[in-house]
Amino acid sequence: MFKAFLIKYGEIGIKGKNRYIFEDALMKQIRFALKDVEGDFEVTKQQGRVYVYAEGDYDYDETVEALSRVFGIVHICPVVICDDPEWDNLTQVVGDYIEEAYEDKNFSFKVESRRADKRYPKKSMEISADMGEYLLRRFHTLRVDVHRPDVLLNIEIRERTYIYSKSIPGPGGMPVGTNGTAMLLLSGGIDSPVAGYMIAKRGVTLQATYFHAPPYTSERAKQKVVDLAKIVARYAGPIRLNIINFTDIQLAIYEKCPHEELTIIMRRYMMRIAEQIAREDGAQALVTGESIGQVASQTMQSLAATNAVCGMPVFRPVIGFDKDDIVKISEKIGAFETSILPYEDCCTIFVAKHPVTKPNIRAMERSERKLADVIDGLMEEALKTREVVICG
Ligand code: ATP
Ligand code: MG
Repeated sequence: MFKAFLIKYGEIGIKGKNRYIFEDALMKQIRFALKDVEGDFEVTKQQGRVYVYAEGDYDYDETVEALSRVFGIVHICPVVICDDPEWDNLTQVVGDYIEEAYEDKNFSFKVESRRADKRYPKKSMEISADMGEYLLRRFHTLRVDVHRPDVLLNIEIRERTYIYSKSIPGPGGMPVGTNGTAMLLLSGGIDSPVAGYMIAKRGVTLQATYFHAPPYTSERAKQKVVDLAKIVARYAGPIRLNIINFTDIQLAIYEKCPHEELTIIMRRYMMRIAEQIAREDGAQALVTGESIGQVASQTMQSLAATNAVCGMPVFRPVIGFDKDDIVKISEKIGAFETSILPYEDCCTIFVAKHPVTKPNIRAMERSERKLADVIDGLMEEALKTREVVICG
């Protein structure tokens, strides 16, 4: 029945030149979301509106599901297209649409019409009034309510005629590609995929970095992170995932630095390396899944200690969230099942029994000086040997 979708998006802040950038990014993301959906789709912009056309056979549910993952979309309206708006035909098509789309016809409605094609013999007001009358005659249980209708039936006569009344909520946010690029530190946990999702929702393109420590961490642990990046990419678009072999750096820290400081020092090197890649690849900020007080390495002092090594802004979108709230989003985006798979994490392997919870930045710097002879070479090697996987 539906041959098109009218895509409604928030208009705030997209005047003038911004509008094109916003709409073009939105269309690109829509095409990306639809690439694996059965059917041929055409995504176009007409008179300041974005439409998705699906003229042949296609999977309606999958299409709606894909569109509801595209940031920037506020509402998705499935549209019936009438190619011959001659009055008797138009009433028939609209009536058949109501017949099919609403099983229970006990509702109030209002018709709202727009006549963009001024050659059409009825004016907008007439179209609305006459169509209302037709529908009341055809369906006796319907009633008109012009103030608070249950169903607002839109009829738009343009080069084609569009009929729609349903509105499916989109995810909101901004189209990815409209607000710069950020580097996500992606681990195999619950929090960092959610953090990436939230930043992408603001229109930011994501890249990611994962640190592993073979042979202490397995191939399966790495695959899990690739899978998580793919899940986030369903919303964020393709993610360039950098996989860094962190083993030698971890071993050096383990050998030379106080064990209770391991986690924080490790984190500081992760941030430094991620920032370096971000600079090389054109990202402007880092993103982590840190949340205040969640674990020893996320106290205020620990956060300050890891933050201190970064020159770029570090975004922590779940900083004030309880675990339960993060889990809810993780479930909603389909990451939870993967996140809870029990594979070892590179940080947990070298973890100390009693990690410092209030690290002193000066003390960290002193400990790190013990790595002076080796660390530059190790970091260079880690960067040089990185593996890049395009996810999505
Ligand atoms: P997550 O659920 O995101 O793994 P977590 O609760 O396990 O987080 P930590 O292990 O303390 O928390 O990690 C805090 C943040 O540091 C993570 O959210 C992630 O951004 C980053 N991080 C931790 N380990 C890694 C890793 N191996 N590779 C990349 N980033 C990491
Ligand atoms: Mg983790």
